[in-house]
Amino acid sequence: MKNIKEFNLDDLKQELEALGEKKYRAEQIFKWIYVDKVKEFDEMTNLSLELRTKLKQNYTMCNFNILKKQESTDGTKKYLFDVLDGNAIETVLMQYHHGKTICVSSQIGCKMGCKFCASTGIKFIRSLTAGEIVEQILAVEQDIGDKISNVVFMGIGEPFDNYENVMKAIKIINNQKGLNIGARHISISTSGLVPMIYKFADEELQCTLSISLHATNDEKRSKMMPVNNKYNIKELMEACKYYIQKTNKRISFEYALAKDNNDNLEDAKELVKLLKGMLCHVNLIPINKIENGNYSKSSNENIIKFRDYLNDNGIVATIRRELGSDIDAACGQLRRKNLKSNK
Ligand code: SAH
Repeated sequence: MKNIKEFNLDDLKQELEALGEKKYRAEQIFKWIYVDKVKEFDEMTNLSLELRTKLKQNYTMCNFNILKKQESTDGTKKYLFDVLDGNAIETVLMQYHHGKTICVSSQIGCKMGCKFCASTGIKFIRSLTAGEIVEQILAVEQDIGDKISNVVFMGIGEPFDNYENVMKAIKIINNQKGLNIGARHISISTSGLVPMIYKFADEELQCTLSISLHATNDEKRSKMMPVNNKYNIKELMEACKYYIQKTNKRISFEYALAKDNNDNLEDAKELVKLLKGMLCHVNLIPINKIENGNYSKSSNENIIKFRDYLNDNGIVATIRRELGSDIDAACGQLRRKNLKSNK
């Protein structure tokens, strides 16, 4: 059976027509799902019993079960969702002054192998479908009874390794008749899959692109991120420049500071050289220590020094607020779980 949340409104209209129904029924269903946030076809009371039965015979609502919910002292919530096939993924909700931001997962596991990330130490199972990405937002909105204003693709997985489904999910999330979260309120973070950066640039979407840079030379970056062996810094920077030129949008470079690894003044100098003149912003992340990880957090003093050096030398840099680290919900701390083996 198909998941009804796989369809954007136009596709849903076609589905309904194929079932011999009028197109406007699709709008009604879309509203029930994304505005009224019902969980069952039977709650769609302006549809005939016959149509509801037809829908139940052809589609599922794919409602994720919440297996676990943890709340941090800073208000961050981490959800463990049963994705209905024996696997579970994590999704994080963060509260900022300007609204609620959800950090969604795009895959069950991750293939990228970054040495400092907890999502790495676990087997890659599969990519999530567009409907499963969208469901994370719906399930959290249902749970909190409130609207989410921003979406970041920074949970488990590499969004550009699941490109088509992520783009499809964005179209559903964007729809003004549904969740109505504008592209400007959506960020996608990639470890640097160069061909996909070019493809994404050509979409000319208003989403923010974040690049996990983390090091300024190939030797260091390859040690931290194996993807650098495939697409090195030079190729990555060329793709970023193309993106900026094509979209006229600022790129956000993520740089996780690890003690005695990439956090000294020499690194800051190299970073300035690398990014000088680019329309960009640097997001410094105090690295979160993970189980069995070799990297540890840079001192606060050092992080501030690093930021100030960048700012003094013409590169806008901010330090990412650490949210949810007490419940392992911070950057790089998310893991998938297998429900059967409980690993
Ligand atoms: N796969 C994508 C998105 C996932 S992670 C990517 O690599 O960009 C979101 C951000 O958290 C990335 O910049 C990632 O490099 C960073 N991150 C991973 N592990 C971390 C850790 N232990 N501490 C701090 N940031 C980490």
